[in-house]
This record gives sequence, structure tokens and C-alpha cells, in this order.
Amino acid sequence: SGAASASTGTRFDLEKETELRFEVEAGERVQLELLSGLAEIFGSELNRNKKYSFGPGSKIAVFTWQGCSVSLSGKTEVAYISRDTPMLLYLNTHAALEQMRQQAERDNERGPRVMVVGPTDVGKSTVCRLLLNYAVRLGRRPTLVELDVGQSGVSVPGTMSALCIERPADVEEGFSVQAPLVYHFGSTTPGTNIKLYNKLTSTLAEVFSQRCEVNRKASVGGCIINTCGWVKGSGYQALVHCASAFQVDVVLVLDQERLYNELKRDLPHFVRVVLLPKSGGVVERSKDCRRESRDEKIREYFYGFRGTSFYPHAFDVRFADVRIYKIGAPSIPDSCLPLGMSQDDTQLKLVPVSPGRDLTHHVLSVSCAEDDTGDGSSARGRGVLENPVCGFIVVTAVDTQAQVMTVLSPAPRPLPRHTLLIMDIRFIDLK
Ligand code: ATP
Repeated sequence: SGAASASTGTRFDLEKETELRFEVEAGERVQLELLSGLAEIFGSELNRNKKYSFGPGSKIAVFTWQGCSVSLSGKTEVAYISRDTPMLLYLNTHAALEQMRQQAERDNERGPRVMVVGPTDVGKSTVCRLLLNYAVRLGRRPTLVELDVGQSGVSVPGTMSALCIERPADVEEGFSVQAPLVYHFGSTTPGTNIKLYNKLTSTLAEVFSQRCEVNRKASVGGCIINTCGWVKGSGYQALVHCASAFQVDVVLVLDQERLYNELKRDLPHFVRVVLLPKSGGVVERSKDCRRESRDEKIREYFYGFRGTSFYPHAFDVRFADVRIYKIGAPSIPDSCLPLGMSQDDTQLKLVPVSPGRDLTHHVLSVSCAEDDTGDGSSARGRGVLENPVCGFIVVTAVDTQAQVMTVLSPAPRPLPRHTLLIMDIRFIDLK
């Protein structure tokens, strides 16, 4: 649908409070240039006469508060101007959060902790980016808490993380991820191990609160929490858990009245639950599309983004030199559990993995936990869960005869640590 624009560049004149939406075709790139006026993409301002480039599959909205002209060149799947956007409501939300920050500053209290929730494809990540951008443009230092293990904006899929935002997101590349705090979850849906998911949520909340105690700007800036699109059953319970762990002040519910009513009913009365419409521009993404963007995130981790190429290393790791664990034993009926053990214990247990062929292509997290010198006692095992990860590797080959595996790593050998956590997620390195 929609006419493909010519490669020479098509000019679009936007009136104030409208946006140009476009999608880039598979295998294509699109160039965007701001010719006059002021415009922003998801809250990051565009510079005049700079060419911005977007890769295949990008779904972009160029919004203007004041009016502008832009030029687009390259093959777009769709490109149209919309006057019907929820941006004014989003801006008002930002203004309300900013008031809370000012009040926090005055009264020596903490700034707003905001949780953004809703089903899949309602623009949760985009709203988070917008609110963070508006806050940082006013000099605030908000924290992004990324709990979406399927489509993380901060690290590779299968992780939960926190990132202090110090400058607006780069128009093409998103937020700069200098020193994120990343935890291993291991799969792309919280349902795989909901106990672990809730536990890591609590851990992130604790770490964030500790930081707020020593860093006034972080405390005043507050946080914006991006969540998963799974909003029923245990997924819903995970949202309620998150609200309590972070002691959120505001919940922004995108597009779903039922979820809004449930949260209003179940959260303490002092939590402000706000229903916001989704933008008509948010594009639904197919399963394949989600898988591709997950793959792309991992590829970026090893090979970098267009502008900055990384050169990953390949080397052999002896089985004897590492300990590989999976978190969570397969659940067994309650009646079969050893005395004094609960289902929680099995889901949070470190289960040693003996390396074999089936390890090939799996992504492994390198835990920051101090290398175990002893016998891997359970006390140490607990520590691994609470430790963030310092990086990721992918197993590209396994030689069971020689008892070694070949890995792809962002840094040369040796591995910085030797406790590895296996993900359900696989990555096939085609380079
Ligand atoms: P998920 O459930 O996968 O986390 P989400 O609810 O977080 O999805 P987003 O990732 O924010 O949704 O948005 C989905 C896609 O729509 C993204 O590619 C984003 O760039 C695009 N998008 C968001 N808002 C607009 C808009 N106004 N115009 C065009 N594209 C948009």
C-alpha cells in the first residue's frame, strides 16, 4: 500500500502537530533530511541539512510541533502524513512527570517512578523513549529500566537491564548504551521462568534504589520502566509485582481499558494509573519480524552498528576451564519435591550443563560472579543469580573429542570470567 517514493527525494511539508510516518522496505535504506522548521523523531530533535539514514524494516514517525519540510529518498513501503496523533497527550504526561520532579527537588524527595504497560504493539518502547528524551532534554537524568525480555532496547534479548540516560537518543541508533546494568534471564518470554523474572525485577529495583540514595540527580530523575506485552495471568501478576518492587508512582496503560481497570483495582490507591491511547502509527510486527529484530540486536552486539564496526574474536575454550549453568530445573510435581524444598527453589536453581553438540549456536552470558574456586556450593550458586553479566558469547562449534568449544566473543581471549549461563536463544553467525 502507498506509492514508493522516487530515489531522487520527495518533499513533504508538514503543518504543526502532524507527523510523517514511513516504513523502509526489506533490503532498502531511506535517507531523511530536515529542510526547514523543527522536527523530532520519538523525542530526539533533528538537525537541519543532515542526512539521516534508516535501514530495512525501520518504522519511523517524524513529528513537528511547529511545522517543517523534510525530504525522503529511497524506497519506502509506506509514507504518509497523519494529523491524528496522541503526541499532545504524551507531552502532557511528560509535563506532569516534570512537575513531580520539580516537587521532588523542592521537597528533597524522590522523582517519579513510571511503569509503561500494555499489550504487544501499542508503542510501549516508543513512549518510554519519548518520555526519557523529553526529560533528558530538560537536564534530568532518568533511568530506563528494560524488562521486555523479548525486545530489549538496551541489550541482547533474554536480558533485563537498567540504563542511566544522559543524553537524548541518537536519531538512527537509539540511546547510547555506555554502561548498562544487565542481568541474565535467558529466554524471550517471562513465562519460561516467572520466578526468575520476578526475582530479577526485584534485584533491579534494589540496585536502582541504592543508586538513588547516593545520587540525587538519579533520584529526582526517577525511572521509566518498559514492560512485556504479556498482560494476562502470570504476566499480569508480574506487572503488579514490578509496581510494588519499584514502588511506582505512575502507571501508563497504553490502549487497553481492561488492563487499566484491573490495575486500578489491584494497585494501592496512591498509584496514579493513567489510560493513554496508542498511536495509529505503531505498526504490528509479525513473529518473523520480531525474530529478525532479535537477531539484529545480537548481530549488533558483536559486529556493531553501521557507523561503528566491531571486530569480534573467535577462539577455543576448554570445557575444563568454564562452568556452564542453566537457571531453573524442569518443574516437578509438588508431591515429588524433597522435604523443605519449594517450587521456587527449583526455578532459581543453577543446574550444571555438560557441554555437548547441542550447545552450538546458543548465546551464553558471562556472569560477573567471582570465579568459583571451590566446589560450586549452593551458597555461591545463589550469588550467580544476583550478579549482573559482563558480556555475551556465542558457541559456534563444539568438539566433544577434544573437549573444547569455539566461541564468538566481543573481546580477545581469555574470557574475563568463567561462569557461563546458557540462554534458550540461538544466534547463527553468518559472517
Ligand atoms: P513490543 O510489545 O514488541 O515491546 P511496543 O508496544 O513496545 O512493542 P514499539 O516497539 O514502541 O511497540 O513500536 C512498534 C513499532 O512501531 C516500532 O518499530 C516503532 O518504531 C514503530 N512506531 C511507533 N510509533 C510510531 C508512529 N507514530 N509512526 C510510525 N511508526 C511508529
